[in-house]
This record gives sequence, C-alpha cells and structure tokens, in this order.
Amino acid sequence: MKNLLAILCVLLWSAISGAELTIAENGKSDYEIVLPDGNNELSPFYAEAGRMISDSIRSANGTILPVIQESRRSPGKKAIFIGPVKALKDCMPSGYWEYRIKNQNGNIYLYGTDHLWNKKREKKHDAFVLGSCKAAAVFAEHFIGAAVLLPGDKVSVLPRKKITVPADFQIQKKPYFQYNFSVSRSGGLWYDLYNSRLPHSWYASYGGHSHNFAILRDKYAKTHPEYFAMSHGKRLHPRLYSTQYCLSNPEVQKLILQNVIERLDQGFESAQLAQSDGFHWCECETCAKLFGESDSSEKLWILHRDIAVKVAKLRPGKKVCILAYGPTVYPPKTFDTFPENVIIELAPATEKQIAQWKRVKVPGGFSAYIYNWGWYQSSGFTPKMSFRQLQKQLQLFRKNNIRGIYTCGFGELPGLEGPAYFIWNKLQEDEQKQITDLLDFYCKRTFGMAADSAVQFYTLLDRQLQKTEDEVEDFTNPAMLRPEHQSKLICRRYPPEVMEQLEDYLKKMEINAGNLLSVRILRLEFDYLKTTVNALMAYRNFLDSRTDENFAELLDTLEKREHMIGELPHNQHSLGYLEGIRLFGGAKFTELLAGGRLYGKVSSPFCWDWRWMRQNQVKPAGRRIIPNNHPQMLFQQGLHPLSKEITSKPTIISCTADDRNFQIVFSMPEESEKQLMNNGFHVYFFRKNGGWRVSAGLSIKGPWSYLSRLEKTSAENNEKGNVFKQIHAPAYTVRTTSGKQGFTAKLTIPWKTVGGTPAPCEKIGFNAVRINKNTGIAYVWEQTQKQENYSNRLDEYGTLNMDR
Ligand SMILES: [Zn+2]
Repeated sequence: MKNLLAILCVLLWSAISGAELTIAENGKSDYEIVLPDGNNELSPFYAEAGRMISDSIRSANGTILPVIQESRRSPGKKAIFIGPVKALKDCMPSGYWEYRIKNQNGNIYLYGTDHLWNKKREKKHDAFVLGSCKAAAVFAEHFIGAAVLLPGDKVSVLPRKKITVPADFQIQKKPYFQYNFSVSRSGGLWYDLYNSRLPHSWYASYGGHSHNFAILRDKYAKTHPEYFAMSHGKRLHPRLYSTQYCLSNPEVQKLILQNVIERLDQGFESAQLAQSDGFHWCECETCAKLFGESDSSEKLWILHRDIAVKVAKLRPGKKVCILAYGPTVYPPKTFDTFPENVIIELAPATEKQIAQWKRVKVPGGFSAYIYNWGWYQSSGFTPKMSFRQLQKQLQLFRKNNIRGIYTCGFGELPGLEGPAYFIWNKLQEDEQKQITDLLDFYCKRTFGMAADSAVQFYTLLDRQLQKTEDEVEDFTNPAMLRPEHQSKLICRRYPPEVMEQLEDYLKKMEINAGNLLSVRILRLEFDYLKTTVNALMAYRNFLDSRTDENFAELLDTLEKREHMIGELPHNQHSLGYLEGIRLFGGAKFTELLAGGRLYGKVSSPFCWDWRWMRQNQVKPAGRRIIPNNHPQMLFQQGLHPLSKEITSKPTIISCTADDRNFQIVFSMPEESEKQLMNNGFHVYFFRKNGGWRVSAGLSIKGPWSYLSRLEKTSAENNEKGNVFKQIHAPAYTVRTTSGKQGFTAKLTIPWKTVGGTPAPCEKIGFNAVRINKNTGIAYVWEQTQKQENYSNRLDEYGTLNMDR
C-alpha cells in the first residue's frame, strides 16, 4: 500500500506530457501574482504570500512579478492566483490545512482552506488555518527552491536561471497530521508553514490544563474559598503545586462546563478539558464520596465524561478534548466508550500509554501531547532526541491513528537541534523521506560552504544521543528524581574526545562560513554546551576525589560558564535575540544558569554561589578540620539551590580538644540571640567503635541536649540515610553569648560519651549541623553529595583530624 501511495505521489508530481510553463527566465515573465479582491481578515495573509513568492522569484533570478488584486489584472498576462479568486469560488476545500496547487490554461492556482478561528488573536497567523499560504509555501519550495531553515520569516533561495512548472502538475493534499504546534513556540508565519508547524487554530488549547482557567484563583479565593481543594485541613494550601479544586462542588463543576462552552462560543470547534497540573484530590467528605468511587483517577474520568455529555447537548457538533495525563494517563476502568464529541489528547503519547487505550472507544480519535523538547527535561538546554527516535515516534503515531501533535516545548536550540526540528517536521509531511537526505539538504542550505563539516558535526552529535536513547524522559521513572541524574546523563553523552571532535568540526565550519548567522548561533549554543559539560565533568571529578585541587578546578569551570552565559544577549531577566533569532527559547536568565527548570535544573553545582565559596573556602565535601586551627564556614544541607540565608547570615565553626573534652563553637556574626530560639546544633562522630550524634539547642525553657547512637548506616538502611537512636540525655554544656559580634553557641562534649579519648593522630568521621527551625534552613559542614534521593541528606562526613 505504501509503495502504491509513493507511486501515486510521483505521478502527481511529474509532468505527464513533458510540457512545462516558464514562470521566469532572464528577468522576464508572462506572469503576475494575483490576489482575491475585497478586504477581510485574510487579505493581509494573501498579500504576504504574494510578496513571499514575488521576492523568492526575484532572489532566484532577478525577475520581478507584480502582485495585484484580481480586478486590476493586466490584459494578456498569465497569473499565479493565491487564495479564493473568482474562478475558484465554489471549489475551496474545507479540511484542516487542506491545500491545492492546480494548473489550468497556463494559469497556476494556489489555494486551500482559509479560516479565522481564534478571533481574539485575529492578527496572528496561529489564529487561522491558512491553506492558501501553505500552498504558496509548497509551490515556492518545489519550483523556486525556497526554504526557511531558521526561525523567522527569512526565506532562503538559491540562484535559478529558469523557473518552470510542469504543465500538468497538480497537488491536492490533506496533511495527515492536522496540527503540529505549541502555544508561544511559533517560529513565525513562514518558518511554521514551510516546516509543517501547522497551528491548531480551531482547537482552544490552554497548553495543558483548563480547570485553572475555568476558576481563576484571584477571582474566587476570597469570595468562594469552598471552590478550592482541601489539603491538610486547609483550602488553598500553599504547598500545593498549582491551584486545585473541590471538584464535588456543583458550582465548581458548573464553572468548568461553562468555560468549555465559552471557548466553543468564541468560535472554536473543540476545547480542552483537563485537571490542574500536579493534581491533588480535595480531601473533603463530599469529594471522598463523589460518584461512589474511591479511585480519584476514576472520579476525574467520570466528571469529565459527564461534562462532555452536557456539552454535546448544549453545543451539538462541537468537540471536547480531554487530556489523558497524570492521574488520568490511563483509561477509565468503569466505562469503555466515550461520548461522540470526545477527543483524547495523550500526554505523553508513548507506546506503553497508547497500548492501554486500545480497548477504549474514543469516537473523536486521539491526538498527542509530547515532551520531545523544552528545558524542563533532564537534558535542560542541551540536545534531546536522536533523529531515529523522532522517526520512530511519528511511525508510532501513524500506526495508531494519532492525528494531531502538540509539542510541549520546541525550538529553543535552533543551532544544536536545528536538523532535528527540520527532520521531524519534514517526516510529518512525507514519511518516505530519508533522514540522511534531509540532514544533507538542511546542512547544504543552512551552512553553505560549511555543509560537509556540518553533516559530520550533526552525525556525531546524533550518534551520542542514540547511545542514551533508552533513557527517554519518563516522568514516572524514580531514577529521574535522583539528584545526580542530569550530570551523569550529560557526562555520558559528551565525553572529552567527542567534545574535542565536535569543536574541531565547528572550527572548520567557522573557517568556511563563519559569517553565517546559522554558524554563529551554533557557536553560542555549542559554547554553552561545552562550558556546561566541562563544569559537570569537573563536578563529577570532585565528587570522586574530593580534593582541594579538583574543587578549585570546579569553581574555575563554574566561573567560566557563568561568564560565557553573561556574555549572551539578554535583558534584565531573560535571554534576548541574535539578529532576530530568539536565543535559548527566550528562557529566564536564571534558568539558563541553573541548566534548566524542573528536571533540567542542576541545583548542585549550578545553583551554588561559587564566588562566596571561593572567598570563604567553603568546600562542600571532603572537608578536614583540625582542633585549634582555622574556623570554617558551614554550607547548606541538601542539594537544593543555595539559599541566600546561608551566605548572608553565615554560621562558622571552630573547635578545640583536650584529653577529656571536645569543644565546638558555632558563631553566627549576623544574628542576635533572639533570632536563635528554635535552633538546633548537631555534632556527629563516626569512629571505629561506633557512631554518635550530640544534639543541643535553645528554647524558651532554656538550653536542651541529648545523645543518640548510630543504629544503622545508610548502607545498612538501603541507602535511605543513617538511623540514629536517642540513648540518654547527658547534660552537655551549651553556653551562649550575644553581643556586637553576633551570637555564639558553645558545646562541650566529653570524649567518654562519644567513644573515648581519641588516639593521637586519630581521624574521626565528623560533621556539624545547625538547623534553624524559624526559617527551615539547615547549615551543614560536610554536604552529602551522592544523595540517592532528596530524603537522605546526612550520610556523609568529613574528617576531624586529631593531629596534635
Ligand atoms: Zn471537596
């Protein structure tokens, strides 16, 4: 069947008679470009398509074709008609993004479905279906050799002496994928249309979640707190990831339905219906009993199905698009047929998820909400998908009748990921196309004289991505939540020999075509990749060795990385443009520094304050302290972004020891005694004969203290952290002083309570922690670097060296 289709396409595309129409040659043309008469919301787009074709022909061979309206045609001239001109009035197609190219009596007709759907965004191209413009782009691509390779509307054209069209040529196409788009990630009208980034203008998508838009938090929080989900006995609990609702409340259900109806009444054909992100079910009694179901996923399915049934009655013919995501990623269990007006948007649309949906009847069919790109992933601002992964994904969608694609994130790396975007988009138009041909074409057209090195560059990059293909982003995979995940992934992908080879190819590209914008963009993104990889390599080296040398090297790489990022065009808060190209998707400056957001954020080491650490010699791991020696500043417990409190209100420790006692002083020069209520100080000793924790602090009742003994090490506890048990409460002396120099807490710990007087030169595993319960911030001397997860934070220790 596929072969037959291919043959049919070839037949359509080739001139059967061999005769051809000459559009432009030697600066001369019998043609003019003709637009429909009248003036409506579509007119500017017809004019833009006319200008694009005229400019492309002029760039190709200098011929100028005038662009005029139909009523002003020149006698005797042939026409390239764009849009619904008089001759076509009754035969305009109506399918989404359907377009046609037709020759008749020497005239060429470029037309398709044209419609304004989103009246609120009337001037933006993504408010429309612009089939005639798509036809113009396809025409220019095939007969003028035009292409749009970088985001924006710059159409690139190669010289072509003679522009001809086979006389019998015609095309009639309904794109298989009805849309391929994402809100706020448009590359501009011509980038989108040349590359099949077709907007879903008829579908009112919020890009994921509708409940939050149906019931605005700001509008109802004060007047109707009962609309919001109960969590830990509180409505609108601040710890909830996003606003959640009391979904059993009839008013809430009504508002959610009303929002769908409003969207449909704005002219859309379908509207999104989806629960809030980070879903949390309301803990009230009515919600617990809702629909007689205990399973919260099932409650959501029933609620959304019932809303769809109501929509079918209120707005017959219109559609509801329900997101299968989070708690509703898998189909309902209590019913297996959805109402006629329902489309299911699979998020993500993986093989595993699609398989689950096979048993369910969804009359409106399926669309996909995919996570191929976006800096919220573990790869952050570095390349993500290999070419063959992209190809396999589209094959999966075709096999399973998935007809629309919403890309959550796209276009943030036009340099490093440019070919991936191009290949992905072009394979949507024609699955028969070969990846290598597409890559060759892209490199020739984007990098000109540097094409050969570009192909080598991207082929090597792709090979590295292939090596980690099985680590696809699955947000249910606990491995992704491990703090080390991103640094390990990126270091595995980009070993030094690969980075050197890539640098080599890029240098060759710069020699051959260094002035091209495409090469300069690639250089910026590659330098970001390089400094990021270097810093993460240095970080991993430091974790393994924990030496002062490797720590100094790590701080140097962080400095270089920050300097490189600081040099990028940016405004106060976000990344800017390089000659019209938005860099790093216009991300926030802090996001680029952090390596990404959500899964892409590399809190350690990218969210450290390397200046402060260098200046104060705060080495977070592999620390050593000698009694009666220099004081040392504490760092932050846990691998979270470094809190300002740690650096602006530092805690410093110093210690002394004799044969009977160990004394430690915590100094807090920026704080007063009053601020130090509810503070706890913990001192850890790990020795051959056992482990101990001495805890002491201050409360309104006065000083307190107790002793705990190590029961299980983290290794004995399945890497879930050390287990201490309180054994007795000896009265450790806690003496505090307060004055202009701030506040100090001094603990005297008799050696006999923590394993006995140490031998001369004994090396004791040691740590010191201050927990400020007022702010929730914990200071630590030796930070646990190789955390298994975010809950075991106190497994590691530095060395207390008893050299005396
Ligand atoms: Zn409730």
